[in-house]
Amino acid sequence: MRRKIVAGNWKMNTTIQEGELLVKQLNFLTKEISADIDVIVAPPFTHLTAISSLIKSDNSNISVAAQNCSDKESGAFTGEVSAKMLQGAGCRYVIIGHSERREYFGEINETLLKKTELALSEGLSPIYCIGERLEEREQNRHFEVVAEQIKEVLYKLRGLDMERVIVAYEPVWAIGTGKTATSDQAEEMHAYIRRVIAGKFPKLADSIPILYGGSCKPSNAKDLFSRENVDGGLIGGASLNAQDFTEIIKSF
Ligand code: PEP
Repeated sequence: MRRKIVAGNWKMNTTIQEGELLVKQLNFLTKEISADIDVIVAPPFTHLTAISSLIKSDNSNISVAAQNCSDKESGAFTGEVSAKMLQGAGCRYVIIGHSERREYFGEINETLLKKTELALSEGLSPIYCIGERLEEREQNRHFEVVAEQIKEVLYKLRGLDMERVIVAYEPVWAIGTGKTATSDQAEEMHAYIRRVIAGKFPKLADSIPILYGGSCKPSNAKDLFSRENVDGGLIGGASLNAQDFTEIIKSF
């Protein structure tokens, strides 16, 4: 039985006060949610300590993720935040390789491998994002692109570490565009991702959670989450509204 996970990526949105309010609303709305669904929020760096404390004091089951971490351990890297710092700030997870990081900040698989290894060494679970661009899907290269993103990063991990990885399939053309992959497209790709993972980690492939991301919202979450290889979602825009995010969580 694989874990069911719904994670909210807040991106560069909310002040600390707005973020705290959002989490308070979520704590209230998700009280009745089945214990077998893991709910994660990924606020901006500045909010992590405050939100972790709030969650702790409210006895909430929500966990905290960061949206990124440095590929360096420590030192003279102005503006960077290390995996160790995130661990100290109360994070259990860190999103790595989000397409916005790959696209706007030039993050390449080599850097993402370092980030993943550092996160794992600090006891964080990486939520490793993969997905093709529109032109790559149109050229029928989507499977090849995703396989490469897996092979260049996840294939280099030890099995013991791979056990703690969550994969998020996020077709770039569906992120923030309102265009969602159909549940058939998501299922086809998730099943493929599982087969690629099995190429290196045959014993683990069946237990690694694979989340779908890309304009997932209350109206389409049920259909997506009903598919065999879709173990939940990484939610951007809709995670900023407590009601919508809760509805998505309840779509399982
Ligand atoms: C994301 O940024 O991970 C994402 C899936 O965004 P959205 O849900 O807004 O498409």
